Amino acid sequence: MTTTRRNSLRWALAAAVPSLWIGPARAQGYPSKPVRLIVPFAAGGTTDIIARVVGQRLGEALGQTVIVDNKGGAGGALGALELMRQPPDGHVLGMATVSTTAAGPALNPRIGYDPVADFTPIINIAATPNVIAVHPSFPARDPATFLQVLRRNPGRYSFGTAGTGSIGHLQMELYKSLSGAFVTHIPYRGSGPALNDTVAGQVAMVFDNLPSALPFIQSGQLVPIVVAAPQRLPQLPAVPTFKEAGFEPVNRMAYYGLVGPKGLPRAVVDKVAAAVQKAAHLPDVQKRIEATGSQLVLNTPEAFGDQIRAELAVYRQVVERQGLKLE
Ligand code: GLU
Repeated sequence: MTTTRRNSLRWALAAAVPSLWIGPARAQGYPSKPVRLIVPFAAGGTTDIIARVVGQRLGEALGQTVIVDNKGGAGGALGALELMRQPPDGHVLGMATVSTTAAGPALNPRIGYDPVADFTPIINIAATPNVIAVHPSFPARDPATFLQVLRRNPGRYSFGTAGTGSIGHLQMELYKSLSGAFVTHIPYRGSGPALNDTVAGQVAMVFDNLPSALPFIQSGQLVPIVVAAPQRLPQLPAVPTFKEAGFEPVNRMAYYGLVGPKGLPRAVVDKVAAAVQKAAHLPDVQKRIEATGSQLVLNTPEAFGDQIRAELAVYRQVVERQGLKLE
């Protein structure tokens, strides 16, 4: 076939089936302006840390600045809802976490968005362990004593989380339901402010993701009691997992990925995913992510979509089985 004939066939096809042509054409000029990356939690939390570590180098790989925009509130739902309302051209992307895609929607069926249907998965960047860490004045250093103290003092202590419907909220409610302990929930706009108040002694403990909690643990301002991870962590070898502590259902990791609004063209998805791969494989980025205790995942859009569906199913089942409710 000659070039002219091939071109006219392409035009004819494009006219008949516009999406065949529009997809790739849109990605050619993309991104044509700075990309806004919505972080659905306050600064200082794990979502913010991962977005900023990857964001700068992602911008270099895409040839445009990536602006991190913290939109915390309602356990990440406010940021997710804002992303849902953006045009699907790739100039506004969002961090999707286990909270916004699974825990929040499972706990609150009226959250206002469908984590599967309303977003386009791009890539899961990293998985992180979770941790319960207490203020140094709390009278326990291990999971068994911790539980004993809580059981003897129902309602005396409170726990901070990244918000209502966040993974910390859901997992702590699960722990309470399995153990019979009672601790009061104090939701924040993200782990950053929750950590600050725990360090200041306003709340007794925090259920957090490791990357944001680790610096406070390393400086002795918080004491780790138990971690959610498949094995003990090299950073905290003396701290047992939830599985070891007898609470295996709580022993699940968190994840941090990138999504766009629904209908993001495949060519844009591929371009962003390739740029994230490139940025995250830079030795300094890789080192900074791994130093936080996270594991790089860097999977395909399909695999990330499958993960979101699977995690949502797991948490829906947890909520139903344990009868967990928003307080
Ligand atoms: N706990 C949240 C999550 O895993 C992140 C909290 C934050 O970044 O402040 O989705």
